[in-house]
Amino acid sequence: MRILVVGGAGFIGSHVCAHLREAGHDLHAYDQGSANAPDWLKDARVRYAGVPITKGDLLDLPRLLGTITKYSPDMVINLAAKPGVGEAEQNPAPFDEVNVVGVVRLLEACRRGGVRHLVHASSSSVYGNRSGMLKEEHEPAPVGHYGRTKLLGERYIEQACCEHGLSARILRPFTVIGPLGRPDMAAWKFAEQIRAGMPVTLHQDASRDFTPVHDLARAFVASVERPWSGLETINVGSGECHPVVSLAQLLADSMGRPLKTKVLAKPDYLPTSTCADSSGALRLLDWRPRLPFAEAVRDFGKWYVSQEYDEEK
Ligand code: NAD
Repeated sequence: MRILVVGGAGFIGSHVCAHLREAGHDLHAYDQGSANAPDWLKDARVRYAGVPITKGDLLDLPRLLGTITKYSPDMVINLAAKPGVGEAEQNPAPFDEVNVVGVVRLLEACRRGGVRHLVHASSSSVYGNRSGMLKEEHEPAPVGHYGRTKLLGERYIEQACCEHGLSARILRPFTVIGPLGRPDMAAWKFAEQIRAGMPVTLHQDASRDFTPVHDLARAFVASVERPWSGLETINVGSGECHPVVSLAQLLADSMGRPLKTKVLAKPDYLPTSTCADSSGALRLLDWRPRLPFAEAVRDFGKWYVSQEYDEEK
């Protein structure tokens, strides 16, 4: 299948490209290269993705449409976004631009370019601070600005499915962990603090469903390969909720360092816990998580240490 992967140079995008390439698909990526990451990490992701990339902005409709027209994909995957729950509270405007207006532009480019199938990355953050196993039929209630922008993106896609006959699979990943990960996320921040011998700063009582990035990439591959029509919204998570202190302890163990912690109050814009009911992914995609939590953390820790990360790199 010919697939355009928008955001293919990002953390998840690079893994999705690598998995799709291995499955024999014909790929092209479109990405602005604006991820919040050092150059060495962006370069490593591009190498791992291993696909031709057109550098372009999601908001640049002529360039996006030109790429679609030239490449003529059977399907588009959208992993381009402005992520970062905390940053969205401080500086919301770019999140509205990329996560909402960007989706509107992409839908317009798909409509004009004759693309009938879209697989889009939303987020578990649309659920907000709801406890228990999160199901797709639960009414979304985001508690922070980032989650609100992801929900608005979903709404525009739903509308395009109703009005323009688009078929879309909206995947809602839960906290993703793995090699080539994001420096603004907990696993990386914890590893940095452990490496520096500093206390890991944890939020009181916080726990998360951590989804190994390779498992998530398999869900994207299944999403493009299993035919569908209309709109499907699908959780992708491990179905297990682990205290973030377990993440810190396993990371410290994998790095061979002692763990010190400092517990902070949780800001209101973060949920206390998240846990995915991924039965929809099993039913619709024949997908189930494979990598156990401890192995996923070790996988990330091993990769992090192997980078001998320093600001000069
Ligand atoms: P990332 O920042 O690593 O990747 C996003 C990519 O989008 C980057 O390569 C960036 O250059 C590109 N991009 C940003 N703005 C752009 C623009 N205006 N035009 C073109 N490209 C642009 O983030 P990620 O963690 O890989 O996230 C990918 C998707 O998955 C996002 O939609 C995010 O909301 C969603 N998601 C991520 C997680 C997670 O834990 N990482 C969890 C749930 C959902």
